[in-house]
Amino acid sequence: MTYPNILIVEDEAKIAALLSDYFKTENFNVFIISRGDRVLGFMDQQPLDLILLDIMLPGMDGKKILREIRKFSSIPIIMLTARIEEIDILLGLELGADDYILKPFSPREVVARVKAVLRRTREDINPEKIIIGPFSLSPQCHEVKINDRVLKITPNEFGILKTMVSRPNRVFSRGELVGRVQGYNFDGYNRTIDTHIKNLRKKIAAHLPGTEVIHSVYGTGYKFSLTLD
Ligand code: CA
Repeated sequence: MTYPNILIVEDEAKIAALLSDYFKTENFNVFIISRGDRVLGFMDQQPLDLILLDIMLPGMDGKKILREIRKFSSIPIIMLTARIEEIDILLGLELGADDYILKPFSPREVVARVKAVLRRTREDINPEKIIIGPFSLSPQCHEVKINDRVLKITPNEFGILKTMVSRPNRVFSRGELVGRVQGYNFDGYNRTIDTHIKNLRKKIAAHLPGTEVIHSVYGTGYKFSLTLD
């Protein structure tokens, strides 16, 4: 069995160390970051199952980090806050934390809440997943993983990729793909799709060097295919 990877973002070293000890006792793999501006870069390097995120942090505050992460990932996030009046904002749609823990807390309570959130999110995510080769798409949370690493993509790129991945080898015209993209500019839609495709290819290539999965079909459009031409 694999043990969950948890990231603790907390600038008070004593609190971070205390939490870390409790989670290690429970067989979690624990990572600690004390600066807010290191979190996004760290997520690129290390697959994580959950983030415990303090709000007052040097570099970047927890709310900003939460907002940035939600642009590309639905990873479970539990906020640590001393201010009860912030809770509605943290859990609201705009920020989208999964839970919060009020400071001061008992480490035992934190561990219990983390386990509960992990159980809940695992149940939520599994039913609606599209898996093909190294790709795994979760339509409900707009998340794409390649070999278990999250691909940072925009909602429009997700819509295009999901459309194509759902029907491998089928050719989609630009017009069809436009239908999946919200808020496009009709006058320039062909160019818009081409730009999204170009960006998608670049992002996918970073995870799968040398493998082309989005193929241009001359005069028609694009298709997703894992087989080599
Ligand atoms: Ca703090």
